[in-house]
Parts: sequence; structure tokens; C-alpha cells
Amino acid sequence: MAAHGGREGEVPGPARAHLLAGLWRAAPRGAPVQRAGPHRQGEGAHRHRSRSPRLWLGGVAQPGNRSDEGRHRCGRRLADPQRDDQRGERRVVGLVPPRRWRGHRLLTARRSGDRRRRERSRGAPHRAHAAVRPRHGRHSSCRRGLRRGDHRGEGTRREDPRRDGVSFDLLIRNTSEVVTCTGEGTAEAMLAPIKRGCVGIREGRIAWLGTEPTEGATLELDARGGFVGPGFVDCHTHVVFAGDRSDEFELRCQGRTYLEIAATGGGIAKTVTATRAANEDQLFKLALPRLERLLKHGVTTAEVKSGYGLDVESELRMLRVVRRLGEQQPISLVGTLLALHAIPPEFKTDRAGWVRLVIDELIPRVASEGLARFNDVFVEQTAFTHDEARAVLEAGLRHGLKPRLHVDQMTANGGAQLAASLGAVTADHLEQISAEGIAALARSGTVAVFAPTSTLFARARPFAPGRALRDAGVRVALCTNCNPGSSHSENVFLAIGLACVENGMTPAEAYLGFTRFGADAIADSSLGRLQVGAPADVTIFSADSYRALPYHFAMNSVAHVVKDGQLVF
Ligand SMILES: [Zn+2]
Repeated sequence: MAAHGGREGEVPGPARAHLLAGLWRAAPRGAPVQRAGPHRQGEGAHRHRSRSPRLWLGGVAQPGNRSDEGRHRCGRRLADPQRDDQRGERRVVGLVPPRRWRGHRLLTARRSGDRRRRERSRGAPHRAHAAVRPRHGRHSSCRRGLRRGDHRGEGTRREDPRRDGVSFDLLIRNTSEVVTCTGEGTAEAMLAPIKRGCVGIREGRIAWLGTEPTEGATLELDARGGFVGPGFVDCHTHVVFAGDRSDEFELRCQGRTYLEIAATGGGIAKTVTATRAANEDQLFKLALPRLERLLKHGVTTAEVKSGYGLDVESELRMLRVVRRLGEQQPISLVGTLLALHAIPPEFKTDRAGWVRLVIDELIPRVASEGLARFNDVFVEQTAFTHDEARAVLEAGLRHGLKPRLHVDQMTANGGAQLAASLGAVTADHLEQISAEGIAALARSGTVAVFAPTSTLFARARPFAPGRALRDAGVRVALCTNCNPGSSHSENVFLAIGLACVENGMTPAEAYLGFTRFGADAIADSSLGRLQVGAPADVTIFSADSYRALPYHFAMNSVAHVVKDGQLVF
């Protein structure tokens, strides 16, 4: 301390255990992890318990640290300090990394043509999670360090487990609430939460929602008093790209304008050059960690656009990479053709030539390969006109591609009215939308998509008028718009926070923006809601309410992610 000046209240170096000790006390919420009551098999002090993470890497129990007594069956209930551990407070503080951070890995590939099922026969079983307890004899031997087959009687245990009341593959319990997003009326009513609810999952789908499960489960996931909701849908991203523009960001911070940077070959042209030079494998590997970050932010479905190829083969390559990514990592991906993102350098003096090529060749090939659900156009003074957008979107419609539009971002040019007149599924950005544009979207039922992180990052003002759109009855979805230029961020929670602080939306509206309305923005009403029969895409938070997401500004409070019934984070 003396070497550092010895000032009271300042300690050099990173915070350590003793400094954080005061933060461990759990907030008084939810039911305790261990409850009094009649014990069934597999519960109570004598149930099998995993080794404490402190001992997990071959360590030896330290006298008096009380971390291993549960395993040694001394039959005691947890002391108060241990309850805090059990409730995950340390995970929030970050003192003891839970196992999932050490053992997390992406799932094995899905079989092609079967997007809802994962490869089960060849892939290794998922690693046991700290919060997952094996039930009814399923592979508990693995957790004691025994190999498969060492467990006597394993063969007989594989018979149909449903005979003794086990029917779910996974049961999520001990929640503060299950936010279903299936209600009607105000945004708060739409959340339709089930207080202290449970989610029963069978064969990748939600099989039951309620408070008192009458059936058992093969695996149970303890939400530790956090809230549970639908997996997030990030309905507008550009995560497939090559190249790095951090140098350009530095120039911007030094005061150069976008036009000055573009004049020296920067901006979108730089990403196009790098993306054209990258092959399919390189684009795949570059996008994978971006998707992994989205997954850790609770995203289970994302839309990904092309638009950095800007020639026929490069645009097709980008969309093939999107399809491959969708098959080989947990997040479901929806492809969007954005051939009219910028004018290709080869067509600077012949923009009509590029539009013709897109209509005559690119759109038919994208449709015949089944590479995209949507067809998108960037309508702006510096990009494409209404007429060009209309021609390309109508051509897409003839091939089954649904229209979307980037509109009213930098200048008000009637883009929202264009989207409404085309029956577009979404109108995205909308910072400059006019009163007529708002009325047009309300009439057409088009979903407005805000990208508040790009408004912030690109220093564009104002933010899109969320309050006016919501008051007009327009569904407003949110997105990260993760891209190398205007929003280099996968932070869902920054977008949710900005939607409340800058777009004038409420926490419930912002939450719906990444769940129910996000799903509407990709034209899939089976997602973004927790309902029986829907895909079991579920995000489990360490926070106990959706209100904490914008309030704990830009902080990630995702504890676990379940995709198609599988624990993937
Ligand atoms: Zn975009």
C-alpha cells in the first residue's frame, strides 16, 4: 500500500476474493434451494451431489471450508454462506467460474434437412452442468468420474423411464417467473408471466407450462430464482463478413468524417473487398465467434443478411455460409438477400445494370437453392431509390422471398410508406420516419425494427421514435444490427437499455422487441413466445425480472440457454 501512496479506500490491482466478500449475500428472493418437506428418492441431503468447483480440478478439501460436506453425506442442511453459493451469487460476482465456462462447447452438427434435431448417435453426451441434476438414474455415473458401462445395471435402467412418472426430457424449475409473451393488450399484459412457473420440455418442444409439475423429468435445470423467457430473436444482423475496420473507427474518433474515410477506400467498400477475397471456410470461421457471443446473450434465432459480396457469386457464397452456420452451431439462422446494400464498384456508372443482374440472375438462384427467406434493400440517398427497391422486392416476391427494407435511416424519404405499400414484413432503422410513415406502418401491420446500438455507434441522431410508433399500435422489434461499420456489437442488453433510455420505450416493450416482436419480424410466430408445442428455445436469467435487463444497463444476465430442448449454454 505504501508503494502506491497508501491512500485509504484504494487498493491496487484487480478485486480479489476478500474484497468481494461483502457482495456475496444473496438478495431475498425466490424459494430456498433446499426446502423442508418429505424427501423423495434423489432429493435431500443424501442425494448425489456434484463435487464443488473448488475441488473439481483435483484439489483437496480444505479444512473448514465446508465445501464438500454435502458429498460426504453428513446430512446437514446448508449453512447460510453456502446458500449464497448455491444461488449463484458468486457467478454474478465472477469469483468462481462455473463449470459451463470451462467446459462450454458448441453442439455437434445438426443433420442436414433436420434443423430441429441434433446429431445424437455420434456426438458425445452434453457435459453435466452445475445446475443440472441427473434424475431417475440417467448417467449419474458420469458425474462420479466413472466411464459409461462401469455402472452396474445401466442396461436395465435404459428402459422407458416414463413408467415411473417421468415424462419430460428437461424441467426448468425454481424460477421467479416464466415470462411467456403470449398475452394480449398492453405490453405488460402481453408478457403474461407465470409466477414461480416451471417449463416442461419433451422432444425439443415445450410440453407443459405451470407451477406444480405432476410429472418428473430426466434432467432438471434449477433457475436459482432467476426469471425465464423465450430465447431471443435477433431479427437483423450482418454477422457474416471479413476484414477489420478498427483503424477506421480510430480515424472517426480523431475527427474524420465518414465521407473522408470512404474517399480513401474505407467504409463498406473495405468490407466488400475483404469479403470477396475470403472463401467459404474463412467466412464461416470468422462468423462463428460472433454467433457464439450472441448465444451467450440469450439469442436462439438470428437473421443474417448478405450484402458484402455485391457480385452474384459472392452474395451466393455469403448465403451458403449462413446456411452452413445454421446447421453447425446452436442458433437457428434465417438468411436475407441484401444485394442492394451498396452500389458495387463495377457498376458505379451503371447501377441499373446491377439491379437487372439481381432480378434476372441472383434472385432466381437464391430462391432455387433455398438460401433466403427475405429480400432486403437499403433505400437512401447514397444507396438505392424507391423504384429500384420496388422492382427488386417485387421480383423477389415472385420467387417467394418476403420483402424487408432499410429505410428512413439518415434522411426522411418516405421509406416507411414504401415498405407499407409493398406489404413488407419489416421496415428497419426509421430514425427519420415521418408522421405519415408512422400512420402507414400502423395501417399495413409492418413491424418496425430499431437498431439503437447503430444509432449510438454511428453518432446518428435522433434515435427512432419508439414512443410514437408504439402509441400508434406498431409492433417494434429490436436488433443488434451487428456489423463491422455502424454497430460492431453483439450486446443485446445494450440495445434493450438504449430502447428504454433513447427510443422512449418501456422495459416490457423492449423485452418484447427481442422476443415476440423479434419473431414477428422474421415472420415466425412459433418463436419469441413460450407456448405448448412451440420449439423449446428458452433463456434463463440470473436476474429475477425483465425490468432488470434495461436497468442493469448493458450487462449480460443470461445464466443458461436452452435451444430445441438442449442446454447449449
Ligand atoms: Zn442492416
